Amino acid sequence: MRAAVYEGSGQVAVRDVELPVPGEGEVLVRVASNTICGTDLRIASGAKSKGVRVPVVLGHESAGVVERVGRGVDRVRVGDHVGVAPSVVCGTCDMCRRGAANLCRTAQVLGHDLDGGLAEHMLVSARAVAGGNLVVAAPEVPFEQVSLAEPLSCVLHAQRLYRVDVDDVVLVVGGGAIGLMHAQLARVAGARTVVVSEPVASRRALATRLGVDVVVDPVHEDLPAIMADLTDGVGADVVVLCIGVPALVDQALAGARHRGRVNFFAGFPKDRLSEVDPNRIHYGELTVTGSSNSTVDDHRAAVRLVERGRVDVGSLVTHSFGLDEIDQALVAAASPEAVKVVVRPGS
Ligand SMILES: [Zn+2]
Ligand SMILES: [Zn+2]
Repeated sequence: MRAAVYEGSGQVAVRDVELPVPGEGEVLVRVASNTICGTDLRIASGAKSKGVRVPVVLGHESAGVVERVGRGVDRVRVGDHVGVAPSVVCGTCDMCRRGAANLCRTAQVLGHDLDGGLAEHMLVSARAVAGGNLVVAAPEVPFEQVSLAEPLSCVLHAQRLYRVDVDDVVLVVGGGAIGLMHAQLARVAGARTVVVSEPVASRRALATRLGVDVVVDPVHEDLPAIMADLTDGVGADVVVLCIGVPALVDQALAGARHRGRVNFFAGFPKDRLSEVDPNRIHYGELTVTGSSNSTVDDHRAAVRLVERGRVDVGSLVTHSFGLDEIDQALVAAASPEAVKVVVRPGS
């Protein structure tokens, strides 16, 4: 079969690899769609090497059809449409035991240290199958939307931590795919006003089409003044930072009202510090959360949200490529005009 293989030092090649045969408890998925995310770009360029095996088939936002099942598999059947949760967790470490398997100490991840979905087929291990990593989706849902349940599951996981209450004003900083998922999910949770701040015009236009209440160009408009107007000067109930720029951390804290919640969704560059005024947290009684990854329960819930059209992930897809066009797909994914790039290994 054909696969996009990361070969180390910034090299990705599409080449023939052996078609895996599912053993006991394992499942072979014919991949229909794999969407690209920033993590793939960091792996492909060599910027991220921790937890990355060389060589490895890239891709962790995958969806497809169950093609073969090994002996003893009863969770899925041949022909099922499935989304694949990429983190294969141990179930026994301290974090797994306290219900935070997204932070599993020994997780293996598809497209990082397990072969992922940028291939015509992917083998899902017995541990992953038993752990519920294959989520069956309604067959009428387009595959790229099932793929996008993966990033949506991470956004949902974060929202469960930072919480959106009915009638909240929510500020999402960064209007790429992730920011637009937070914005839509805030709506689902009952927010009164959702604000997205995004410097790229095409993304602002998409935010508007998706029904975001207030879309702000932070370069040419005065975001703090707009937020003050919307909140009688007290600030947002929730601020979600979807851009990993350390200088924005204190601004995010400054944008929240007293008792507000601030979530650092984006990761930050390694070893960089950020200067904050800690009194914003102290006197404002702010709740500050991080969030990382998601659990298979989040993934299942995300697939349900997509199936029911509660979150429009289809509109986030701006580019589509075949597997042999992986180089163009990675270039497109890095461009500011791209929101989500899908690769269709079957096409
Ligand atoms: Zn991703
Ligand atoms: Zn664990």
